[in-house]
Amino acid sequence: MSSLLLSINERVGSVTAGADIRGDQSEPTCNICGSTQWKEKPGRPTFKCAGCGATERARLMRLVMDATGFPKPGMRVLHFAPERAIYRSLRGVLGDGYECADFNPELFPKVDNIRKIDLVNDLEKLESNSYDAITHIHVMEHIPCNITAVLCGA
Ligand SMILES: [Zn+2]
Repeated sequence: MSSLLLSINERVGSVTAGADIRGDQSEPTCNICGSTQWKEKPGRPTFKCAGCGATERARLMRLVMDATGFPKPGMRVLHFAPERAIYRSLRGVLGDGYECADFNPELFPKVDNIRKIDLVNDLEKLESNSYDAITHIHVMEHIPCNITAVLCGA
């Protein structure tokens, strides 16, 4: 596990800087779609990929997925606030084993079968052991709740 974290940590700087994770530092390349075109934010020249729309955090999530071998076909995964680029990756691998949810599902018109789940009030409605993994990024900071209770079921 420590070598995996080291490997990921070594690559985080490259991904957040937009550099090619395959080692070519000459032209930043998206690790999801291979695009070399970027949409900038002040101080963040590779904030969003112009090809697939992946932000830095989505590219980082994909890097972690690739490094850990997640997901594997046959897994059941629930994805909150599905980022477009990650949604495509997970749906492609998982098929019917992939479900999406959000507090405001209408914000995701291009996501098939997304359902409404309120992380504060609806978690008890989920059947125990119904997913192999639940994934989200950039979600918990928006929820006024006891994060420990939500994440650990405390
Ligand atoms: Zn891309």
